[in-house]
Amino acid sequence: MSPATPLAPFDFERRELKDDDVLVDILFSGVCHSDLHQVRDEWGGSIYPMVPGHEIAGKVIRVGKHVKKFKAGELAAVGVMVDSCRHCKPCKKHMEQYCVEGMTGTYNNYERDGVNMAQGGYSTQIVCNERWVYHISDKLELAATAPLLCAGITTYSPLKFAEVKPGDKVAVAGLGGLGHMAVKFAVAMGAEVTMLSTSPSKAADAKKLGAHHFVLSSDRDAMHKHKSHFDVIVDTVSADHNYETYLKLLDLHGRLLVVGLPKTHPEVNPFELIKNRRSITGSMIGGTVETQDMLDFCAEKNIVSDVEVIPMQYINEAYERLLKQDVKYRFVIDMASLK
Ligand SMILES: [Zn+2]
Ligand SMILES: [Zn+2]
Repeated sequence: MSPATPLAPFDFERRELKDDDVLVDILFSGVCHSDLHQVRDEWGGSIYPMVPGHEIAGKVIRVGKHVKKFKAGELAAVGVMVDSCRHCKPCKKHMEQYCVEGMTGTYNNYERDGVNMAQGGYSTQIVCNERWVYHISDKLELAATAPLLCAGITTYSPLKFAEVKPGDKVAVAGLGGLGHMAVKFAVAMGAEVTMLSTSPSKAADAKKLGAHHFVLSSDRDAMHKHKSHFDVIVDTVSADHNYETYLKLLDLHGRLLVVGLPKTHPEVNPFELIKNRRSITGSMIGGTVETQDMLDFCAEKNIVSDVEVIPMQYINEAYERLLKQDVKYRFVIDMASLK
């Protein structure tokens, strides 16, 4: 209800189903660190009352009469956005996350009509235009698929953009919700994967997730040995850090793919960029077509997130633990606890 109060029960109505809308019974909702940022208004401009949650997995209850993609009873997912202008250049290319007029976030946003508030996944049902609703394979454990809708697509999209292929040397910096998905995807794409972390305790966890190597990023000698070594580094670190530490490790045409959001803005020495013609590329979630591709890739490769399933009533404790990074690697709310 406000930045300073804990989450509490709140009743609201979803809008009426339009002809191209899908009504989804929410079964699981992932807990993303950006939920916490927005709930506490750490990015500014938060709108209350706010129902967070943008990693939604459930089952279709009902569809509008023009809906072609879904039938009642099918599994369905909703991610970080629920609409966009639909006519600008990025939208036409199905990269709605970069909509010129701004995408409509799943919560903490007004819908395109400027009247209805978009509310997120910590709820029992959601109504969403079918373009922003995705199919999930019944081969995957449903609770563990929810985080694919944010942590998954956020790391899959830049790896695809960088055209990672078998044999490429990929490093992942930071082992949390994003980092653990980046490792799984890079391994599944056939890359030789190295985890870069400041904490030695992460070495065993990184191996378990499939990483082939581990480098302690606070160890100067170890980092020096990997100078100009990697084709791609996925930087998921949200703590303040120096980009140059990672840039130096990039080989010819190497890319630093930035998905973490540190508070202070890093300075970069251009000499480190012109060497090896390195680049820094930012990336934000993924478009609707790519999100479905990612979910299909997960079904084919049997990839899900590592999750700790919690009841809704545990959410405030879960937030405290999230701040201490005390979760491997994503909390997922079992929405049966709210019904
Ligand atoms: Zn998220
Ligand atoms: Zn647009």
